[in-house]
Amino acid sequence: MAIATINPTTGETLATFEPLTDAEIETKLALAASTFQEYRKTDFATRSNWLNQAAAILERDQAKYAEIMTLEMGKPLKSAMAEVAKCALVCRFYSEKAPEFLADVSIATDASNSYVSYQPLGIILAVMPWNFPFWQVFRFAAPALMAGNVGILKHASNVPQCALAIEAIIKEAGFPEGAFQTLLVGAKQVAAIVEDDRVKAATLTGSEPAGASLASIAGKNLKKTVLELGGSDPFIVLESADIEAAVKTGTTARMLNNGQSCIAAKRFIVSDSIGDRFEQALMDQFESLKVGDPMEEDTNIGPLATATILQDIEQQVQTAIAQGAKVLIGGKAIESNGNFYPPTILTNIEPNSDIAKEEFFGPVAMVFRVKNLDEAIALANDTPFGLGASAWTQNPTEQQQLITEIEAGAVFINGLVKSDPRLPFGGIKRSGYGRELSIQGIQEFVNTKTVWIK
Ligand code: NAP
Repeated sequence: MAIATINPTTGETLATFEPLTDAEIETKLALAASTFQEYRKTDFATRSNWLNQAAAILERDQAKYAEIMTLEMGKPLKSAMAEVAKCALVCRFYSEKAPEFLADVSIATDASNSYVSYQPLGIILAVMPWNFPFWQVFRFAAPALMAGNVGILKHASNVPQCALAIEAIIKEAGFPEGAFQTLLVGAKQVAAIVEDDRVKAATLTGSEPAGASLASIAGKNLKKTVLELGGSDPFIVLESADIEAAVKTGTTARMLNNGQSCIAAKRFIVSDSIGDRFEQALMDQFESLKVGDPMEEDTNIGPLATATILQDIEQQVQTAIAQGAKVLIGGKAIESNGNFYPPTILTNIEPNSDIAKEEFFGPVAMVFRVKNLDEAIALANDTPFGLGASAWTQNPTEQQQLITEIEAGAVFINGLVKSDPRLPFGGIKRSGYGRELSIQGIQEFVNTKTVWIK
């Protein structure tokens, strides 16, 4: 994919960027490696100060960064504003909490003193997706930098201006030159970077094939990886649920970010007894959403990020229809120069079909009916993915069974699945491994060093 800003609202190419040459990559890796030797010696107070400064810059120029995101990948401007604010939050969170998360831990043994000490690894590569182009990067960069690592970013090829803006923010915040660098490179150039001895570990957020490719190269080179991959999260609504609240939250959960979120509610699994009521209410909510120019204040759903994603969604919906799915609303791309697809609801999908197990990365909800809780859980787990799950019931026994039996990295009862710096985030099964955020996130890329002194 060419590295370019293509406005998804108009289809217009606004800027193109040449990928870095091998020599340019070498210069950046050499700088990162030499910076690490000094940066690792800085104390928490210094790093905290810089990270707080990054938060202040994000808040100062919030509108500017939000506009770049909306321009490059089409999310509604108000969501982009919220994303910038969340980046400032994660910077402040780790700025305050890292000293506690990475403090030495004393352990009584036969030594006079023994403890665990957390030390940085060196250069960490982050390969990131376009869907939350600021948030995904800051939730990696804030803990990595606080831990004393240096970061290099290979961002998605359709958000180069976001990638450059983030590098500039971290530099302006005061971090040393080379502590965090954007590498404008294509996906094919990633393997050689992972193989480079100076790069100690890598994290990738994106699709399964990309994750598997990066992890296999890292594995051959005995380097640690964290993978945050796709999801097809269930949204379970049982008989005792507050249906109105479930439908409202379910709409947000499916439509957030124009339907392009890994933790979006993609499969609605609803008790038979409330199925008709739920479907009607969901249709009403979907119909009330405004699809249009993401720069406009009252737009709920902007264009899909790229023409390819639009084609993929169209293809998936057509396949579902060919296999017997019924379209309640939507189901056909909106004619325009941009990548617009309407809110769509599909029912009557055969649970064992291939399409039922695919991730729909756009504003398309699948609704399934079930007879009881056991059937709901079995269907929820009948997916290659295991990222998040939202389940709605007032019954504490049902809640506990869901918490215990759902195969996912997170279960939210009566609420929207969301990321929060205070809580670990990540998946199981084909949704990846490792965790971001919270204490678990910052401890992924450190050397947990055992110290024993007699
Ligand atoms: P993608 O194609 O995998 O792209 C993600 C990143 O990986 C981009 O920077 C891409 O670069 C790079 N990449 C692609 N192929 C690669 C390869 N073989 N080796 C190394 N890097 C490679 O993902 P996408 O389709 O744009 O993003 C959507 C997917 O990401 C969905 O499945 C979604 O669920 C998942 N996602 C997961 C999370 C999470 O936290 N679990 C969050 C957001 C998104 P180019 O752009 O240059 O191809």
